Formats: sequence, C-alpha cells, structure tokens
Amino acid sequence: MPNTNFELLGHSILPGKGMLLNLDIAKLHTGTKIEVPIIVQRGKKPGPVLLITGGIHGNEVNGVEIIRLLISKKYNRPEVGTVVCIPVVNIFGFLNQTREFPDGRDLNRVFPGSPRGSLASRFAYHIMKEIAPLADYCIDYHTGGESRFNAPQTRINKDDVESMELAKVFGAPFVVLANTREKSFREAMAKMGKKVLLFEGGKSLDINDMVTQTGIAGALRVMDHLGMRNFTEELSLMERKSLSPVTIESSQWVRAKYSGMFHPFVALGAKVKKGDLLGSVSDPFGNFERSIKAAATGHVICINQSPIVNQGDAILHISQE
Ligand SMILES: [Zn+2]
Repeated sequence: MPNTNFELLGHSILPGKGMLLNLDIAKLHTGTKIEVPIIVQRGKKPGPVLLITGGIHGNEVNGVEIIRLLISKKYNRPEVGTVVCIPVVNIFGFLNQTREFPDGRDLNRVFPGSPRGSLASRFAYHIMKEIAPLADYCIDYHTGGESRFNAPQTRINKDDVESMELAKVFGAPFVVLANTREKSFREAMAKMGKKVLLFEGGKSLDINDMVTQTGIAGALRVMDHLGMRNFTEELSLMERKSLSPVTIESSQWVRAKYSGMFHPFVALGAKVKKGDLLGSVSDPFGNFERSIKAAATGHVICINQSPIVNQGDAILHISQE
C-alpha cells in the first residue's frame, strides 16, 4: 500500500504531485484517436490508492458530473495516498450519449476482458491490467437506466463487512445488498481483492443536484475515513448530512397493470405501508384512472419518470422489509 513510486501508463508521479494522463487504446472508425483522461493526484505522504470511476455506461452523466466537481473543487487532492479519477470510462458511449460501446456491447458485462476480444472487451482488459492493480479502493458512479430514477444508494456484496463499513461511511440514504453481476467491473475488482462501492443515483442523461451532492459528500467521507484528507469543514458546510442508511436485502418492482399515463404520488425514498396509494395509470382521454397500491411495506428506491408506460413496465421499485 505505501507506494512512494507511483507508476501509471509509463509515467512516474511523485508524492505531492498530480498528472493528467490519457489512456489511448482504440480509434474510431474515422481513425480518430480516442483518449480517456485519467487524473492522478498524490498526497505528500504514502497511503491508500482510491480509484474513482464514472461513465462506464456512457449515458450515465450524473456520475461524470460528480467526479468533474470533485476535481474542479480540488477535493481529489489528498494529503495521504493517491486519488485516481476517471470521470468518463466509456468515452465512446459518452460521445454518442449511449450506454453501450460503439460495438453495441455493455462495457460492464465484459470484465475482466481479453486482449483479443471485442472492442469493449479489449478496453476492459486494459483497465484491469494497467489501472486496477494500483487501486486499493474504488468508488464507481452509476445512475438508473433510461427514465428510472434511483434514490441515491450504494451497492455492496452481502457478506462483505469492510464494504458495509465504507457504505455506512459514504452515507447515501440506502445500502442495497446486491451480489455482483457476472462480468461487471465490480465483480472483476472484487476478485482482485479490491473494495468497491458502487453508487447509483438519478437516471441516465440527467443531472440532479440532490444526487450530485450525495455523491460528492460520500466520496469526501470515504477519503476522510481512510485518513487521506480531513474534510470535516467541507462536510459541515454541505447540505447532504450523513444519514444512517437503510439496508435493503431484497426488493420488488411494481409493474404497470395497464398501458397509459403514469402519475406517481409518492416521493423517492419515502416509506410506504401496505395499501398506501402509490400512483395511478390513466388513459389519455379521461375515461379511466386506475390507482396503484402498495402490496407491502417498504421504501420507494426507484421511480420510473416516464409519463407514458406500457402494461408490464417496471414503474416503482419498493424494498421488502
Ligand atoms: Zn450504470
């Protein structure tokens, strides 16, 4: 862990110094070189290496915004250890504002990758070979897919005691115990023995201030907890107070029984009781409006913000308690 000689992509970064590096491993079909910026900041004293990643899904811009602010406010400059920020891992998808890689693959389903695999797989391989081994801890920022707006939450493996401690430190309102997805970045990192906090908040192609502030405050609390920098003052000025997170072991989607216009009546994060009115689905012509009631008690951890839903669409995600 104490790493006085920090080497990344052929560059040596000295204690107390920072460097902007570019991971340059693939080209567009036009021949244009695609560079993935990596921002490294080292503290004067040796210590843990924290990797902060966003945009593994190219349309999940709220995570990119969180890391952009961490950098622009210079919160990524530790006194102890090293912070490595990759605000946009899937820069290909970010350019196109799509979740996937240009080869149509989901980058987060091809880890640890292969040097002779698909474009996404080759890219994953380079991340795992050149960057991942240097990290001790990782915070990976995501959002909900499409119109599904997630309440800010960290996701960790069920029996991972150290990650649970970090998730509590991070202080998002919910901690979801979710096994790693096969071939995800989180699974590949966990297999390498790294501690990964996956943050989910908001929806794709959206920037939400509440989500951003929760994500920033969480990173500061983790850095403070790891002894990398004292953020007591910054955190005291922030709106996002540390909460005692609600731990969620299982959850269920409420699906639309009818196609139509969806109106949620509950707030994100709210606790609902069995029988509570959650929302309604109506036709567009004023003929019918059917109410949706809670089948059980739980917290609302995701709301589909699409105004129009099809029968069977997932519309509300409720924890089971
Ligand atoms: Zn994602």
